[in-house]
Amino acid sequence: MEIITAVRGFKDILPPETDKWRHIEETAHEVFRAFGYREIRIPLLEKTELFCRGIGESTDIVEKEMYTFLDRGEESLTLRPEATASVIRAYLEHTLHAAETVTKLYTIGPMFRRERPQKGRYRQFHQIDTEILGPDDPRTDAELILMLLHFLGKLGLRDLNLEINSLGCAQCRPAFRGAILSFLHGREEELCGDCRRRLGTNPLRIFDCKVETCAAIISQAPLLPDFLCTGCREHFEKVQACLRLFDQPFHLNAKMVRGLDYYTRTTFEVTSGSLGAQNAVVGGGRYDHLVRDLGGPDISGIGFAIGFERLAAMIPDGDADAVVPGPVLFIAALGETALEKAFLLCNRLRMKGIRAEMDHAGRSLKSQMKRADKLKSLYTLILGEREILENKALLRTMRTSTQEEIGLDRLEETITDLAR
Ligand code: AMP
Repeated sequence: MEIITAVRGFKDILPPETDKWRHIEETAHEVFRAFGYREIRIPLLEKTELFCRGIGESTDIVEKEMYTFLDRGEESLTLRPEATASVIRAYLEHTLHAAETVTKLYTIGPMFRRERPQKGRYRQFHQIDTEILGPDDPRTDAELILMLLHFLGKLGLRDLNLEINSLGCAQCRPAFRGAILSFLHGREEELCGDCRRRLGTNPLRIFDCKVETCAAIISQAPLLPDFLCTGCREHFEKVQACLRLFDQPFHLNAKMVRGLDYYTRTTFEVTSGSLGAQNAVVGGGRYDHLVRDLGGPDISGIGFAIGFERLAAMIPDGDADAVVPGPVLFIAALGETALEKAFLLCNRLRMKGIRAEMDHAGRSLKSQMKRADKLKSLYTLILGEREILENKALLRTMRTSTQEEIGLDRLEETITDLAR
C-alpha cells in the first residue's frame, strides 16, 4: 500500500531541526520579555472578513493566496495568512487598550498562504510576530527595530541588511499616488496584466512587481520619500537618528512598499545574502489606521514578522547541537535484573531533570555502546549480570574512555553529583 504524504507546500519539521526551532523560540521569549512584551496565542482560523478588511482587498494575499472555505455552507472562514490582523482583533475584542496605553505583544505560530512552493517559500510557514499598540512616536519604531536586530544578533546572525523606508500617511500618500498615476499615464499597455489592474486598485504595489518590463518602467518613477509631509519626514528622520545612536547600519530603500496595505510611515525589511531568491527574513512597519479600520479606536501600531523557516535556515546546524546536548548518562543494561534496575535508575534521574537514556530491549553491549556514542552521552553506565551479582556497576567517561567501579547503592547519588 502506498504511504500518504504531506500536502504540497506543507512541511514536517523534524529533529534535530526542532531543536534549532526550540532554541530560536527560547531566545525570542527571553529577548522579548526583557523589552516588555507579553505572549498572546490566537486561533489559526478567523472570519474571512478580518483579513479582507485588515490586509486589504487588493493585496496578493487576499486576492489569491488565502485558504478560504465556507464552514458547512454558512460562514466564510480563512486560515490566517499573517498574525497582525488577528492580534488586533483579539486586542479589540478583549479591550486590552482600556487596560494600558502601551501594549506589547508577540506570538509565534503557523501562517497559511497558497503561494507557489519553492525553497524558502511554503504554504504553511511560521512567523515570529511582535506588535506594539498605542504609541506613535519614532522612538518606538527605532526601539522595535533595534530589538529585532539584537534578537537576530543573539542567534549569531551577522551580515544582515536592514532596509527602511517611510510610506507616508493619509495626508501625503495621495499626492504620491497621483504622481505615480500621471507617471504611468500613457504607458499602461507596457505593464503586465496584474499591474494594469493595480493601477485602479493600489498603484504603489507596482513597485513590488517582479516582471522585468514593469520593473524597468518603475525604476524611473517618482519616489515616495520625496512626497512626505513635514510630520512624516520628521518622524522618519528621528527613527534614523535613534538607529544611529546604537550604530545600527541601515539602507534607505525608497522602493520598498511591502505587500500589505495597512502600512503607514516607517516600514522595514531584513534581508540576507545567504538565503538565495527568497532573501527577506523579516518584514514590518507602522500601521496607524489599522486598529480603526478594524472597528477600534484611533490607536497606532507597529510590528514585524520574522519568517521562521528562513531564520532557521540561516543558523548553522552545529549551533543547535551545542544548545541541545546529548544525555548525561546512557545506561547499558544486560539481562532482566539489570534492565529492571536500569529502568528504575533511568527514570528516577529523568524525574530529577537529569538527561538519561537506556535501551529497554537490552541488546548486545556493543550495540548499546554504539548508541551511547551516537547520542553523544557524557557517561555510560555498564550494568551486566556479573556487575549486579557483585553489587557494582562500571561508569565510563566517554570523552576520556576511562572506567571506574561504583557500588550499586551509591549509583543515583554519584550520577546526580556528576550531573551538577
Ligand atoms: P510578510 O508577512 O509577507 O511581511 O512576511 C514576513 C516574513 O515572513 C517574510 O520576510 C518571510 O521571511 C516570511 N514569509 C512570508 N511568506 C512566506 C512563505 N510563503 N514561506 C516562508 N516564509 C514566508
